[in-house]
Amino acid sequence: MDISMVGCGYVGLVTGACFAEMGNSVVCIDTDKTKVDMINRAKAPIHEQGLPRLLRRHVLMSKRLRATTDLREAVMATDMTFICVGTPENKDGSIDLKYIKQATQQIGEVLKDKTSFHTVIVKSTVVPSTTDLVVKPILETASGKTAGKDFGLANNPELLRESVAISDFMKPDRVVIGIYDELSGKLIEQLYEKLPAPKVIVNLREAEMTKYGNNFFSANKISSINQLANVCEQLGGADINNVARCLGMDARIGNNFLFAGVGWGGSCFEKDLRAITNQAKSLNIPVDLFEAVRAINIFQRNHVIDKIGDVKGKTIAVVGLAFKPNTDDMRHAPSITIIEAMLKKGAKVKACDPIAIKNAKKIFGDRISYSTDIETCIKNADISVILTEWDEYHIEPKVYKKLMRGKKVVDGRRILNPIQAKKVGLDYYGVGYGK
Ligand code: NAD
Repeated sequence: MDISMVGCGYVGLVTGACFAEMGNSVVCIDTDKTKVDMINRAKAPIHEQGLPRLLRRHVLMSKRLRATTDLREAVMATDMTFICVGTPENKDGSIDLKYIKQATQQIGEVLKDKTSFHTVIVKSTVVPSTTDLVVKPILETASGKTAGKDFGLANNPELLRESVAISDFMKPDRVVIGIYDELSGKLIEQLYEKLPAPKVIVNLREAEMTKYGNNFFSANKISSINQLANVCEQLGGADINNVARCLGMDARIGNNFLFAGVGWGGSCFEKDLRAITNQAKSLNIPVDLFEAVRAINIFQRNHVIDKIGDVKGKTIAVVGLAFKPNTDDMRHAPSITIIEAMLKKGAKVKACDPIAIKNAKKIFGDRISYSTDIETCIKNADISVILTEWDEYHIEPKVYKKLMRGKKVVDGRRILNPIQAKKVGLDYYGVGYGK
């Protein structure tokens, strides 16, 4: 199929590259010319495992993937357009649809001049009712045409996780297709035919709600294990990791997202939880659980800050900046809240991360110092704080003891063995370690 993707971010570029891998011809559109030029040189503007290989294979070799800033040309040349632009939050937590509205308007203006059937699919995360109440009227007014008759409309939420986005996309648990018209449903089903997963056809609002439900349940699970972790810690005599192991074996619970720590970060959970909370409030629905899940996440960061203790004049080593391993994404990373608190209290901060330094510099500039290796970071530190569980940062507690000036280690990701840490003489704190 001939497909265009509006927005070359984590979602648009990864899914576009995967569609090319599945044999389709794909044009990625972005307003950011630097990104477009990079993609056309087969260079990935973001860090995502496997993406450089897909770009080389399909931009340079099969030539099934290209990028442009010219939306009109791309929509004209294709049969389906996926909207993958950002959906940030407004100050009050409600969803900001400005990029969705702009992209939809531009697509609608092209549809006006298109004679062949074209399907528009919203892939960005949008609050339920956005596709039928916002996207559809803009497309119809701009094109002078009718959805479901002259052009197709659908919502196909993206459920991939950054850092494993390509494998998530290629091996999904299911593909959710929210349809307005049956023909679009059939075309999208055909597009995903090769993926070894059920294709679930629902309506537009059900598809939109599935995405929010997915993020809410995942965030809820993290907050739930963190709440239990805090009880273990205070009670003593129980390690949350052992409890989580037992819980995870229960098929009703499952072991994903069952790791106690400093809480979630990333571009989606916080903004999507706020957006659905805001929508629920506008419908006069009690939002206690939504709010509790977020409140526990905020508590968790502050709890780690409390455990770090007095930092005035001290050197703090922050191990890991990205919100999770294998990504350079710093959006809503716990490291931001924790480093800002340390700096405010008068600490000197040294941080390490294998790939997120470029993005971290946009936030902290030269207020902190950076290294990619952990040894440089923890050397002569008074306190070390572990915030991202990168594989290469799984070092023995004795290395901390040897390199640090102080002996306090705050393990926000539970990557050190607490017994060994104590044995070598570290003053160890691990989230949920109540022994
Ligand atoms: P992003 O900010 O990385 O990328 C969005 C891109 O859209 C940017 O490159 C921007 O320049 C471009 N853009 C904006 N307006 C445009 C226009 N009119 N024409 C062309 N390009 C335009 O965003 P992202 O992380 O890829 O997220 C996109 C959507 O997918 C969001 O709704 C997000 O919530 C959702 N989502 C994200 C993830 C994730 O892990 N990042 C996962 C699932 C769903």
